Parts: sequence; C-alpha cells; structure tokens
Amino acid sequence: MGWMTFKPGRLVCPHCGYDGTTPPQKHHDYDYTPFFWLEDATAGWKILAVNGDTIQATETYDLYDDWFNPRIQCGRCFGEFPVPEGKTAGFIEPDQADWGEGGA
Ligand SMILES: [Zn+2]
Repeated sequence: MGWMTFKPGRLVCPHCGYDGTTPPQKHHDYDYTPFFWLEDATAGWKILAVNGDTIQATETYDLYDDWFNPRIQCGRCFGEFPVPEGKTAGFIEPDQADWGEGGA
C-alpha cells in the first residue's frame, strides 16, 4: 500500500497539528501511514511450573478478543489522542477506502 492523501480536517493531531495531507515521514520504502488506530489486548500464557525464580510458561499464547482503549496515533509525532467523538472504526481492505461525498 502506498501513500494515501487525507482530506484536510478529517483527522488532526492535537499534539503537532498534522492532518494527513502530506506524507508524515518514511517508515518503510513501501508504506506511508498518516494515522494508526490503536487498541490494547490481553495475551495469556499457560503457566506450567515454578522453578526457583522462574515461572515457566508455554511459548504460545492466547490472545483474548476483548480489545480495549481505542485511540489514534499520529504518524508524524507518534502522539496518541482519543478517537474523535462520534467516530467508530470500520475495518476494511486498503483498496476499499471510501472518503464519502467529495471523493478522495
Ligand atoms: Zn502529531
């Protein structure tokens, strides 16, 4: 996925004023990302034994589905800020982005 141009005012970082209308910075040769949707999750490892100071647990973990603490991270300053009031996530494929009225 390459660079996406955001329309002015759609999202604005309260820390640095970045709005996604220009590339934030180059993370990788192939991917510019103006903003990230972040959420936390809980991972659990099964404890098998306690040996001295070491709690021995399985190498594999279970990731629980109850994601929490949604927020947005700025791709320029990496500051985090709350999801704007009234906005919700709609998870889609990269080629399905729809900017609504007015086009991209
Ligand atoms: Zn920022």
